[in-house]
Amino acid sequence: MFSRMHAQTVQELHFCQKESLNAVVALHNLRLGPALGGCRFIEYDSELDAIDDAIRLAKGMSYKAALARVPQGGGKAVIMKPKGDFDRELLFKQFGQFVESLGGRYITAMDSGTQVSDMDVMRTQTLYVGSSSNIGDPSPSTAHGMLLGIESAVHFLMNQSLSGITVAIQGLGHVGFALAAHLHEAGCKLIVCDMDEKKTQLAQQSFNAEVVPVDDIYSQACDVFSPCGLGGAINDSTIEKLNCKIVAGCANNQLAHDGLAFTLHKMGILYAPDYVINSGGLVFASSSYRGMSHKQIAHEVSKLKDTLNKIFVLSKQKDAPTHNIANEMAEQILYGDDHSRDWIKEAV
Ligand code: NAD
Repeated sequence: MFSRMHAQTVQELHFCQKESLNAVVALHNLRLGPALGGCRFIEYDSELDAIDDAIRLAKGMSYKAALARVPQGGGKAVIMKPKGDFDRELLFKQFGQFVESLGGRYITAMDSGTQVSDMDVMRTQTLYVGSSSNIGDPSPSTAHGMLLGIESAVHFLMNQSLSGITVAIQGLGHVGFALAAHLHEAGCKLIVCDMDEKKTQLAQQSFNAEVVPVDDIYSQACDVFSPCGLGGAINDSTIEKLNCKIVAGCANNQLAHDGLAFTLHKMGILYAPDYVINSGGLVFASSSYRGMSHKQIAHEVSKLKDTLNKIFVLSKQKDAPTHNIANEMAEQILYGDDHSRDWIKEAV
């Protein structure tokens, strides 16, 4: 257990076992503030799989928060979904009590398998909840940040605006569909796919998007390929099919392994690091939690454009993958001297 924590530099693991509830909260790094991260509620094959997931995701949240310039640490909760019958309301009430017992070191939010109604149940037990029906859906902020990030990448690489650019979007979910609407408005040509035909039909009707089969999306000739479905979209076999200049999507963990960052760099494809370009949702959760207005939140989200641009410039100067540059910048904020965190005083 300790070696697992050490390998991922996770500082704390908290466990709770109560009736059907088997939960773990991983706190990676609290240097910037209380940890904010979603609560995942899915079935796991083993307890170690659940712990590893919490540890890996908590680390990702620290890096995301650092570059999103929000005063939050990185944390994540995992609840092992019971295989048989269970009382959902009781389970989330008990989880809310567990979060409360951590005294504000961890603020929970929605993630795979949890719903707004679960957050509302937790809020009856603790105020350390960063999403609820009062706060609303983070996806529009994520999509807004995505639009700005794609604009930034296109400007950097192609020195032009979005008008006339072709974007291939994989997955038309909460973020992908909203992003398609923004890009259509900005004058982009869209190529889309999704397993759900209703979503692709709607995109065809609403945005004049060209619909292609799910397996064909990678090889579409386009300026920007935008993975907005699940993680691991770029792997050893799909990377060879890419026919784009830029990869910029909202899916978490788009690269199946870190080595692919080097391959994209060598191929001359500009990669917008996933946790930077998709940080609008975290900024929304953190800013709403701290009582900011919609206007202030939109301003906070827009800062990711400058961060991405800085990453692109450094990547070019150092001839190094953008993914590595982003990690180095985040590590400087998380582990560097106090000077590297000056912005946090402003943010708070
Ligand atoms: P969602 O579940 O609403 O949508 C995902 C969509 O992708 C679905 O329509 C699904 O059918 C489709 N899809 C999945 N795999 C696909 C594939 N191989 N080919 C084509 N379509 C596929 O999810 P979402 O909230 O839009 O989030 C999308 C991704 O972005 C996820 O990886 C999520 O973790 C990440 N993300 C979301 C947010 C947010 O604010 N919602 C913030 C940061 C990151």
